[in-house]
Amino acid sequence: MNSKLPHLETTIFTVMSKLANQHQAINLAQGFPDFDPHSSLIESLNYYSYQNYNQYAPMIGVEKLRNFISEKTERFHHTIYHPEQEITITNGASQAIFTAIAAVIEKGDEVIIFEPAYDLYKPAVEMFGGIVKPIQLTYPDYNIDYESLKSKVTSQTKLIIFNNPNNPSGKIFKAEDLVQIEAILKDKNCYIISDEVYEHMTFDAYEHQSFARIPSLKDRTFITASFGKLCHVTGWKVGYVLAGKELMNEFRKVHQYNVFSVHTPSQYAIADYLDDENNYLELNNFFQEKRDYFTKGLSSTKFELIPAEGTYFVSASFKNYSELSDREFAKKLTIENKVATIPFSAFYHDTFDEKVIRFCFAKQKETLDSALEKLNKL
Ligand code: PMP
Ligand code: GLN
Repeated sequence: MNSKLPHLETTIFTVMSKLANQHQAINLAQGFPDFDPHSSLIESLNYYSYQNYNQYAPMIGVEKLRNFISEKTERFHHTIYHPEQEITITNGASQAIFTAIAAVIEKGDEVIIFEPAYDLYKPAVEMFGGIVKPIQLTYPDYNIDYESLKSKVTSQTKLIIFNNPNNPSGKIFKAEDLVQIEAILKDKNCYIISDEVYEHMTFDAYEHQSFARIPSLKDRTFITASFGKLCHVTGWKVGYVLAGKELMNEFRKVHQYNVFSVHTPSQYAIADYLDDENNYLELNNFFQEKRDYFTKGLSSTKFELIPAEGTYFVSASFKNYSELSDREFAKKLTIENKVATIPFSAFYHDTFDEKVIRFCFAKQKETLDSALEKLNKL
């Protein structure tokens, strides 16, 4: 068959989860919690399903959920997003990002992506004829090289994709970073996607700096988020996008013919659950404890850890164990040592290999204990 996408392979998350299942390895690869969401959320989902909330939701999403998002964004980031015009509920953050790209990218447009980058961005841009201009974050601090950014932003640049807190590095970009980006983009015409799915997983008193705090760019910025992360329900695939009114109008032109709307009972259940703010404000501490527990357990190994300031991932160099490529090492670790991880090269446009693998610590204590026991025997 004449493939439209000859270079695209199966996503690394599917590959590593499959390998973990085949070899009964502990799956610290794909990012998802191995514990149940709060029972009240499940009860609420059942309630709405039985009460016959089973037909199409409004195209832009359930009003109660959009109102909640508007209030939360104003409370934390002091910018008002109008629930009717500037907020849309999506089929996870993935669909929000893909749809935003579809809405603005035309053939030949340049798109800046900071690497290591979540694996969805580049293929999505290329599917619409865009040309990715990667900028490598500095190693090992994963900072932005602003000289490089200045030189790469040209009149051809249509979009910059930014991810904060950053998957996979665990880096949190600070207020100064947003200010620098704002200054560089001030006189330019380019759009921004700020992917903020880990907004409530920030550690050590770091505060999440949302692009919602940069009102001068509101008309050009899509902010994407995920209730999968916020409510421990990655399988529900519910997320949202924020954007200025005109930009959101363009987004919805695509959204209406792509998915039209999102699973109805989930939206009501999530809105009820998040009425209790403790259900999301406690996430920072909850995941920080897991990060501390897991990294303490790794301190007796020869892995060299990259500090995780946010997200539910921690990454580490394995160069004290092996000279294999990161993909080969991750494969071997899964098959022989029964711990599955993600090789970092999956997050670069070429096969750049810094000998780093990513662990997901959104797991029960028992899962982390079994993984640590195996990793300490390497
Ligand atoms: N962006 C990043 C950085 C992610 O890590 C993920 C997945 N965890 C997504 C987007 C997609 O989120 P969702 O599962 O809500 O589609
Ligand atoms: N975002 C998750 C991760 O980084 C994976 C999501 C997926 O499998 N598509 O692990």
